Amino acid sequence: MQLLDGTSCSQQIRQEIAEQVEQLKASGKRAPHLAAVLVGHDGASQNYVGMKARDCDEVGFNSTVIRMEESVSEQELLDKIAELNADDEIDGFIVQLPLPDHMDEDKVILAIDPRKDVDGFCPENVGNMSLGLPTFLSATPNGIMELFRRYNIETEGKHCVVLGRSNIVGTPMAILLSRNTNPGNATVTIAHSRTKNLKELCASADILIVAIGKTEFVTADMVKEGAVVIDVGQTRVPDSSKKSGFRNVGDVDFDNVKDKCSYLTYVTGGVGPMTRASLLQNTLKAYQRR
Ligand code: NAP
Repeated sequence: MQLLDGTSCSQQIRQEIAEQVEQLKASGKRAPHLAAVLVGHDGASQNYVGMKARDCDEVGFNSTVIRMEESVSEQELLDKIAELNADDEIDGFIVQLPLPDHMDEDKVILAIDPRKDVDGFCPENVGNMSLGLPTFLSATPNGIMELFRRYNIETEGKHCVVLGRSNIVGTPMAILLSRNTNPGNATVTIAHSRTKNLKELCASADILIVAIGKTEFVTADMVKEGAVVIDVGQTRVPDSSKKSGFRNVGDVDFDNVKDKCSYLTYVTGGVGPMTRASLLQNTLKAYQRR
């Protein structure tokens, strides 16, 4: 089994971006600027936004984190989004999900100017992705495609099972892999909580991508010998041996599955860092388009 090392792959991508930013600055241009809106105090969200800001520093981007209280009204958040849409100094921004229960996530995403939607969540960008038109690709699926690309993993003609159908991971992943591109050209099955014979279906996959948020759900009997397995899941579980008091656990039972796979990702050095690198790629793209 070969580990798909998202940490080193994303390091390479950051290096490539940093070189481009150096060139921009050397020619007298300003650096790309990413903003992140963080509502409330959810630990995982704070952590993700902090990492995204550090990534920006590393590649030479400007970054701004806008913190809003959990009690902020939906309208106040929409007003902030309108401000960011109009701000010429901001190339792209994200609204960190999930939002508090009193907010309608769809309404919030629809308010983002698609030209600044570097998460690739707006309908216009999702539509462009489906049609194979230039767009901001959703960061996690794009990061996984980049892993396939950089490790020369053949996807053409393979049976790929995507477990989970969320708008931000499972569904765009299935679309990207089924398109006539390289990587792509896979025969894709999307599975979810209503899928029957899930075990048999997963065990028939040449490539199994798991994004359900259920710790160690995929066991060895669900994996075909020689399969490529991508674990997107990231669930915090209490762990008193860690300084933080928790550790992240994936959706795949890594220890028992690893001997059956040809390639496998590890949580958290697999998909997570690639997602963050994709966000930087999208921000650079937003800057270049403007
Ligand atoms: P989500 O919105 O939480 O949806 C979960 C999906 O899994 C749904 O489609 C659901 O089916 C399906 N599902 C749940 N239980 C299932 C079961 N027992 N059998 C089959 N399908 C089941 O998904 P998400 O936002 O994509 O997140 C999934 C996981 O990925 C989470 O752990 C999240 O933290 C992680 N994540 C990681 C990254 C990263 O960068 N590493 C990025 C995004 C998400 P139904 O549609 O039928 O309900």
